[in-house]
Amino acid sequence: MAESLHWRSGVIERIARTTPSVTNLWVRAAVAPHIAGQHMDVRLTAPDGYQAQRSYSTASAPGAPLIELAVEALEDGEVSSYLCEIAQVGDTVELRGPIGGHFIWPPDESGHASGAVLLVGGGSGVVPLVSIVRSRAARNGAVRAASPMLLLYSARSWEELIYRDELIAFEANDPTFMLRFMTTRGEKHRDVDFDQRLNEMLLRTALAHWGQTAQLVYVCGSNAFVETITSTLVHQSIPAERIRAERYGGTS
Ligand SMILES: Cc1cc2nc3c(=O)[nH]c(=O)nc-3n(C[C@H](O)[C@H](O)[C@H](O)COP(=O)(O)OP(=O)(O)OC[C@H]3O[C@@H](n4cnc5c(N)ncnc54)[C@H](O)[C@@H]3O)c2cc1C
Repeated sequence: MAESLHWRSGVIERIARTTPSVTNLWVRAAVAPHIAGQHMDVRLTAPDGYQAQRSYSTASAPGAPLIELAVEALEDGEVSSYLCEIAQVGDTVELRGPIGGHFIWPPDESGHASGAVLLVGGGSGVVPLVSIVRSRAARNGAVRAASPMLLLYSARSWEELIYRDELIAFEANDPTFMLRFMTTRGEKHRDVDFDQRLNEMLLRTALAHWGQTAQLVYVCGSNAFVETITSTLVHQSIPAERIRAERYGGTS
């Protein structure tokens, strides 16, 4: 897989607060093209030379001219607070990547159908899944029909759902893409969604509505979210070798 370990300068060309806690940044940098699901390392350097680096998934569809990141501001978070509160258009950051050879879609070099795909994201863990959904949407109808996709996306509230309207539009325009939101605080806004955490019964209900057998599952979010979801999936008889997981860290 294309993977560059050299740091390169990138210029922030656009910044937008997209939910109460998430800021999207669009960066122009001469890096290799990415595959949906990969991430970049971002390095910041203070005037006194102090450096901090963190990983951020690429939200953009492959081939997009700018690298799109969606960063959730964590309380006392060193790098996320900087990117969300202080960074300005025109600032330079260093980037390394794209990185990652396992958490990618399509799952192999052929670039073709992968069978039914289940995506499960918690909080900002939806970001690489959005890149996957965007990448799939750019493919022809035959590829999409051969890779039906269900995205289960859990966030605190309706307002905290990143890419909410874009995902709803994808679902409206593509009968092979199904979307279910789970909001853990606050009400649901669509009848089909769930106003509770993803648990075994909810997963069973969503999979029954979908009517497909997942050949591949991508799970992304905080460590605790990924652990809970993967063990729930295995309880539901989804073989562990079909599950690909990306852990963002933290405990919540
Ligand atoms: C492959 C990969 C891709 C990632 N992609 C994204 C992304 O697209 N968007 C995004 O917002 N983040 C993403 N992350 C998480 C990101 O790398 C940072 O860990 C996060 O922004 C916190 O960094 P910080 O410097 O702000 O917090 P720190 O100063 O490192 O930590 C502050 C506090 O937050 C806790 N914490 C750290 N990480 C998390 C977490 N993920 N969840 C909950 N609590 C946490 C720490 O334990 C600490 O208490 C990704 C992580 C990985 C490994």
